[in-house]
Amino acid sequence: MAKAEETVLEIDLNALGHNYNFLRSKIKPDTKFMAVVKAYAYGSESVAIANHLQGLGADYFAVAYVNEGIALREGGITAPILVLHPQKIHFATLIEHQLEPSIYSLSILSDFIATASTLNIHEYPVHLKFNTGLNRLGFSADELPDILNLIHQQKTIKVIAVLSHLAATEDHEEKEFTNLQLTRFSDICKQVDSLFEHSILKHVLNTSGIINYTHAQCDMVRSGIGLYGYGNEPYIDEQLQPVMTLKTIIAQKHIIRSGESVGYNRKYTSEKDTVTATLPLGHADGIGREYGHGKTYVSVHGQLAPIIGNVCMDMIMIDVTNIACEEGDEVIIFGKSLPASEFAETAQTISYELLTGLSQRIKRTIVH
Ligand SMILES: *Cc1c(COP(=O)(O)O)cnc(C)c1O
Repeated sequence: MAKAEETVLEIDLNALGHNYNFLRSKIKPDTKFMAVVKAYAYGSESVAIANHLQGLGADYFAVAYVNEGIALREGGITAPILVLHPQKIHFATLIEHQLEPSIYSLSILSDFIATASTLNIHEYPVHLKFNTGLNRLGFSADELPDILNLIHQQKTIKVIAVLSHLAATEDHEEKEFTNLQLTRFSDICKQVDSLFEHSILKHVLNTSGIINYTHAQCDMVRSGIGLYGYGNEPYIDEQLQPVMTLKTIIAQKHIIRSGESVGYNRKYTSEKDTVTATLPLGHADGIGREYGHGKTYVSVHGQLAPIIGNVCMDMIMIDVTNIACEEGDEVIIFGKSLPASEFAETAQTISYELLTGLSQRIKRTIVH
């Protein structure tokens, strides 16, 4: 790893490859792998990540919105790309960039057919998303006759896949509910198979689904967080490698005399002489105020130093009283040796939120 000279998010493609191979090893060789690279590949850098995964053999990519799919196409991704939440105003652009929509309601379905037919499109590939209990997006199973009505009257679109999303694959207390969702999905799949003549891809599992419900892998799995090195439970985390390491340097050190305060609104007051270090990143970079007040630690030369006082917009202060360090020395905020999942937990949140919240202001560097 290169030594930081400013705040950087280091993206390790070898770690990505390791995680991809680990997740692939859990599924059958002929099960397709859809790499979820929405939200800048969970806060990293979607084009570099997707290109590396495409090279390793990822079959499919998924993004949330159309503009994210366009960025991948412009970055050289030729594999199929599913757009999980396409908006009607972007249907024509979606088609122009050969992106596949996840269609989740009758009105979206008829709007999409209308747009595609004005463009004289023939058999445009679409995925139908069914709600099996997450109650977020999706058709209900009893809408199938209406779906068929719309679809069988035309040749503009072709249903190539059906999917659903599970609410709690990482939660062992919700096994019964997850199994209910899987049963509902499998019933939908059976109906779909009996109603269509061509074969249709089925996909339902996310990362924790791959780990905990491997038997339900169907034709394809959709993995995001696992690729980036987090498995939502310690024994999986141990087998994965964090792809992103957020690093910075000490901008300045101060000796704070007993009774003096540090930072805005004087939320930290020293009880003894204390050495602090100021770091050039703050809530504008995605390290929110919930990480202040001594609850969260960063790593200075392998030793843990708490973030003290209020997190500022562009800076945080840490207590380095017992750590030998100099201005300019490197500090690891999280990543290798200090997992983002543990950092996030200090603020009662999850790796997903911490990673995707990292602002675009932070420089990304790719290491291989
Ligand atoms: C984000 C998302 C995923 C990926 O979930 P992970 O837990 O990160 O693997 C899969 N499917 C859908 C529909 C999603 O929105």
